[in-house]
Parts: sequence; structure tokens; C-alpha cells
Amino acid sequence: MNIHEYQAKALFEKFGVPVPKGAAAKTAEEFAGALAQLPEGPTMVKSQIHAGGRGKGTFTDGTKGGVKFCKTKADALEVAKGMLGKTLVTVQTGPAGRKVQTVYFTVASDIKKEYYLAVLLDRASSRPVIVASTEGGVEIEKVAHETPEKIFKVVVDPAYGLADFQVRDLLTRLGLTGAEAKNGGRLLRALYAMYWETDAAMIEVNPLITTPTGEVLALDAKVSFDDNALFRHPEIVALRDLNEEDPKEVEASKHGLSYIALDGNIACLVNGAGLAMSTMDIIKHFGGNPANFLDVGGGASKAQVVAAFKIILGDPNVKGIFVNIFGGIMDCNVIASGIVEAVREVGLSLPLVVRLEGNNVEAGKATLAASGLPIVSGGSMADAAQKIVKLVP
Ligand code: GDP
Ligand code: MG
Repeated sequence: MNIHEYQAKALFEKFGVPVPKGAAAKTAEEFAGALAQLPEGPTMVKSQIHAGGRGKGTFTDGTKGGVKFCKTKADALEVAKGMLGKTLVTVQTGPAGRKVQTVYFTVASDIKKEYYLAVLLDRASSRPVIVASTEGGVEIEKVAHETPEKIFKVVVDPAYGLADFQVRDLLTRLGLTGAEAKNGGRLLRALYAMYWETDAAMIEVNPLITTPTGEVLALDAKVSFDDNALFRHPEIVALRDLNEEDPKEVEASKHGLSYIALDGNIACLVNGAGLAMSTMDIIKHFGGNPANFLDVGGGASKAQVVAAFKIILGDPNVKGIFVNIFGGIMDCNVIASGIVEAVREVGLSLPLVVRLEGNNVEAGKATLAASGLPIVSGGSMADAAQKIVKLVP
């Protein structure tokens, strides 16, 4: 789960990570009230969307910059009015962009130097890793590609936590000394504590800055959490912004389905993540394009199958459906009854290829046959995949 910068910075403050003073607003009427909380002077106006690259982004009306520096609060008010409700396209949003529904005002900081700092899970060592660089503010992917020696990594032993020598090591490699090192060290420990205690998946600060007066501040904050640990953090779940998520994915998560929307036109309904991935692969192999990843799980109920089928049918990009089920724990007849019920409710005008195999497959096939629905039955996985690819224009 992702949160907005303004929410992430509120958590930063709670954990003792210094950030510039700021206030968020969701409507133009709230702008003046938010700005009143800040001192007069240079102010940043920041579009709040769940994507980075906002500063270099462009609104669909051609206006440039989703993050803007303003000399006065009066200017900031005008700039914010021009951002709210517009769609911002950045390197991370994809061409469709994201609608700006919240604007965040912050005191503009004086930047001495920009750094990069992140805490995330290193899958190779199964440990938290701190990634830092003296090259902040720019795309870290570019730094990693062109000057990888400028990126440092410190792997933390979760049993001991972030050690003092590791903090000193990071500060030295970032070239921080004196007051900057003292403040930077405090910030590193606070950031790691937040990563650990909130079950974050990633915390990225780009840029982390030093100021001419020796402060070290997080100017940007991108935080995501491990969905599997959210049950431990109701206060974080409360930060979820459904506006930022694909409505189909939101609906799927309500029913406990793992669903990810994709660009293609062949919808897949599969049980088990491995089979779901190989189903997408085989569709591609035969020249088709999957419209989604959908794993109904090993022990899906009929209600879940109905919900899954409705989500698929609600996607206007879908031009055909491929149901690929291997019944282990899953009873094929539960899938078949779910399909029949969903189609009865919402209708079916698209080609549907169903391949059932395994537990109670005969009953499942009988249910489909008795339904009288125009279902194409697939034999092997390859046979079924070829059939759906052929049926979809
Ligand atoms: P992003 O483009 O989505 O990564 O948004 P950021 O919050 O990182 O802002 C974009 C850029 O604006 C940063 O990399 C900074 O260079 C600049 N910026 C952000 N906040 C401030 C600030 O308080 N003062 C100054 N001078 N520049 C800022
Ligand atoms: Mg940034």
C-alpha cells in the first residue's frame, strides 16, 4: 500500500525525521487555511499523487511542473488553484497520468546539497538495506546506470538493528561532517526505526538535503507498506487513498482476490499465482495479450468467483476470457457454478474459453454443459490458450 508525501511526512515527524513545515488541502476553499499555518516567504506547492517525478511532470493541459517553487504565499495560492483537479503525467504515472486531488504546501528550504536515501527490503539477502547516494534529486535509476560507484548500500541485520558503525560508515561515505553528521545520524536512525516499526516495504527520500545552516531534511517522501502486515497497523490502513488505486483492484481486494489490471484484452481467471503467471505467459506465447493477472486463490468460494468474473466483465478493454483452473484444493465445480451464476447476472457477449482440470472436474464440466452458455472448452493449456487467442480480434 502506498501513501501520499504529506502523509509520509506526518509519519516522519512522528518518528523524528526532520521535514519542512507543511500543510495539505483537498479543496480550493481549504488553501488559505492551509497556507495560514505556514510563515510568509518562499513556499513549495506540491501535487499529491502516488507517483514520483512530479517536479518534471506535465499536466494534460500543457502546464509544466507538478512541484513548484513560489516566492510568496500569495503566489502559492494561485499556483495551487492551477494544479487541483488537473491530471499530471510523470515518468511514473504512465501516459494516462493521475488526477491531483490534494495539494501540499511546504516552506521552501534553502538547499546546500541534495542526497538520495532509501530503506527497503533486499530480497537477495532477505534483510533491510539502506541505499544512499551523494547524487540526489535526480532519477536514481540514472545514477545507478551511469555512475553506480556513487550509490552505497548498507545491509542491516534485523536481529541487531542499525548499528552505530553502519551509521558512521554511511555518513562518511555521504561526506557529512560536524553538525550535518550529527543531524544526519539522528535522521538515519529515525528513518530506520520508522521502516522497522511500521512494516514499511520501502521508504525513499529523494532528495534528502543539507541546508546552509547545517540542518538535514527530508524534502520528499515516498513510502509503501507491506500489505501482509497491514492488519497490525490500522492507523496506516486509514491513510489509504482509494482515488489513487485502480477501481477494479480495489473491488478485487474487497473480495480477497489478487488482481492486477494490465494493458491487454484477454482476461484471465486462474487459481494459484504460479498458474496465473504461466497462463499470462502462454497467452503471450501464442500472440495474445493478457488484460489482467487474477488469482482467485486455492480455496475460493462461489461468491469470490462471481465477484472475480464481474470485475473481469466490467473492464471495457476485455475482448475475451480465459478461465484456466487446476483443481487441487479448488473444486472445479465451484468455479463452474460461479461462472454460470455471474454470467446469468451480468450477461456474456464475449468469447469464453474454459479449461478445467483436477478435483471434481467432471461435475464442473457437467455444470457448464447444462448451463447452455456458449462456452468453448479447452483441452490442454496450450490448446485452450490458442483457442482464446484465435477468438479475440
Ligand atoms: P518529485 O519530482 O516527485 O520527486 O518531487 P520532489 O518533492 O522531489 O520535488 C522535486 C524537486 O523540487 C526536488 O528534487 C527539489 O530539487 C525541488 N524542491 C522540492 N522542495 C524544495 C524546497 O523546499 N526548496 C527548493 N529550493 N527546492 C525544492
Ligand atoms: Mg523527489
